[in-house]
Amino acid sequence: MILILLGPPGAGKGTQAKRLEETRGLVQLSTGDMLRAEVAAGSALGRQAKQIMDAGKLVPDEVIIGMIEGRLSQAGAAHGAILDGFPRTVAQAEALDAMLTKLGRRIDHVIELKVDEAALIDRISGRFTCAKCGAGYHDRFKPTAKPGVCDNCAGSEFVRRKDDNPETMKTRLEAYRQQTAPILPYYGARKLVRQVDGMAPVETVAAQIDAVLDGR
Ligand code: ADP
Ligand code: AMP
Repeated sequence: MILILLGPPGAGKGTQAKRLEETRGLVQLSTGDMLRAEVAAGSALGRQAKQIMDAGKLVPDEVIIGMIEGRLSQAGAAHGAILDGFPRTVAQAEALDAMLTKLGRRIDHVIELKVDEAALIDRISGRFTCAKCGAGYHDRFKPTAKPGVCDNCAGSEFVRRKDDNPETMKTRLEAYRQQTAPILPYYGARKLVRQVDGMAPVETVAAQIDAVLDGR
């Protein structure tokens, strides 16, 4: 299965993708996570991407397409993939179609997570992750069970993203509106898009996604 999770920053794509990895054996392919790993490794690609990411703008299409191609063929060979944060432009969506044709695969579902802008700012302002295992949390909506200890791996170090601030968020939301939202009619014409109410609690969103994947 190839599933695309589409939605603005903070909509809950990563949260739902991680759950689907566990429940359905799909592989999460997050271009944001891949880029952050390149930045952390200090690679040429990471050096090129860092400033753009910190400013909340989109990394050039050719960089993203080159980065995801190999990962997609590995994940495609397995059970399937959840695309989280990719594609983000119509050019990326067209490149994805070409990659999938080569692999003899196709997109099964595009799920649009709909969340109000005010809620998105709240979500990214409180987001943090475990430095060791990457589990995602929120100060108010999903705190760790024991303060300062990761529920998943008992790690005690947490990180907050530099671009998760209200100022950079304005640029990121603008990029979503201008460059990413046009993907919706691109897939809509193929009747692939299903909308899910991303304002609901995590478990309710998960149930709505399950209903789409199970054809209910
Ligand atoms: P995205 O991957 O779309 O940027 P995340 O999955 O990282 O978004 O979610 C952003 C923040 O909001 C995280 O801190 C997460 O814990 C929290 N969150 C995710 N889904 C919900 C939800 N349905 N209700 C409340 N908070 C949520
Ligand atoms: P994310 O983790 O999805 O919020 O992405 C963080 C940042 O990485 C974005 O603000 C962009 O700068 C960059 N990025 C991630 N995925 C893409 C993509 N598909 N196209 C362009 N830039 C991307």
